[in-house]
Amino acid sequence: MTHVFHRNPQHTLNRAVRGQGISLFDQDGRQYLDASGGAAVSCLGHGHPDVIAAIKTQLDQVAYAHSSFFTTQACEDLADCLAGAAPGDLDHVYFVSGGSEAIEAALKLARQYFVERGETERSQFIARRQSYHGNTLGALAIGGNAWRRQPFLPLLAPAHHVSPCYAYRDQRPGETEEQYAARLADELEQKILEIGPDRVAAFVAETVVGATAGALPPVRTYLRRIREVCDRHGVLLILDEVMSGMGRTGHLYACAEDGVAPDILAIAKGLGAGYQPIGAMLASRRIYDTLVNGSGFFQHGHTYMGHATACAAALAVQRVIGRDNLLANVLARGEQLRTRLREVFADHPNVGDVRGRGLFVGVEFVRDRADKSVLDPAMKTHARLKRQAMENGLMVYPMGGTVDGVRGDHVLLAPPFICTAADIDEIAALLDRTVRQIL
Ligand code: PLP
Repeated sequence: MTHVFHRNPQHTLNRAVRGQGISLFDQDGRQYLDASGGAAVSCLGHGHPDVIAAIKTQLDQVAYAHSSFFTTQACEDLADCLAGAAPGDLDHVYFVSGGSEAIEAALKLARQYFVERGETERSQFIARRQSYHGNTLGALAIGGNAWRRQPFLPLLAPAHHVSPCYAYRDQRPGETEEQYAARLADELEQKILEIGPDRVAAFVAETVVGATAGALPPVRTYLRRIREVCDRHGVLLILDEVMSGMGRTGHLYACAEDGVAPDILAIAKGLGAGYQPIGAMLASRRIYDTLVNGSGFFQHGHTYMGHATACAAALAVQRVIGRDNLLANVLARGEQLRTRLREVFADHPNVGDVRGRGLFVGVEFVRDRADKSVLDPAMKTHARLKRQAMENGLMVYPMGGTVDGVRGDHVLLAPPFICTAADIDEIAALLDRTVRQIL
């Protein structure tokens, strides 16, 4: 018996005892190719010597200093590095320990910004159906995964939801991408008008949807249209790049590819690459200045914010990505992966779509390619797929079913940025084998 309160106590887990390159090894020496980076976390793979060395160096200097007493060089350097590369005027970086904390900070910053401006009526948040922003109560309140929200509904602040940008399912026949994006922007604008523009604080969206929709990118003009609507009504735009940011799409910030800068941006996962738990919220100069020149204080904080060792690890991750030109590899290997998957699944009746950006790749399964009917409304397939993949020595991240707010069965692939062309071919072959064993 285990005393650990595992996330799924009914399942017995193997023990991970070693990580090397793009693989993890269990207690029996079995190798697992980490094609999902856990949950889009391990962007440099496992056991990276530079990151380990940076952590050791930081531990020898100072492991942790509470952020109300001190800053550290690692924290300052990481903020310079992230802000220096960020789109727009996202100048200020607030470090936390993970994605949900980054989103909580974003929601509270948006609210406090309006309180400081005297726009105290602005307390409402709009997000999208089929979204995930974290499991803490604020993040869950805005999230669009009904299954995760259901038991906790009495604890969640009311939030508003509009349609996700899901071209594979929702773009109408004959409708151009431009027209589809405009339709979704209109829907958001209608929602703002319905609530009352001076009551809406922010619109929150994942730049590329991760877990609930399998690496679902927006159509090209969507984010620009959404930005315009938000600006027209003084509503802040919060982008969640907890999964899709930090190089996963081949760009350090996924929204930069769309030429859009949000007012607040949340990042995590690939930031620490799994070597340390760390997330961050980037805030625009306008928002930061409003607080600094107003109350002078952000009414929020956590014990581990700006953790020196976590910052040192994240800084090392950024330096490796830059030094080894890994974003170029992400773009090339991502293209290769999508091409290979389209080839191997060309004849498979249950594979409806292969999509994504960079090394953030999704495969959507359907019962029937023609009508795109959902493969498994009971949500059983994804668990079988994950088990079978592990038996084949492959780690992938499946999700799905039809629960209010989530449509479709998907598998998410997010291999480390260091993977080679041969690794990509192996991942595609192993996934092909796995899918054909269960479908
Ligand atoms: N936002 C997105 C888009 C995510 O994918 C996740 C986690 O999967 C979160 C927020 C929450 O991050 P964490 O699990 O680090 O709290």
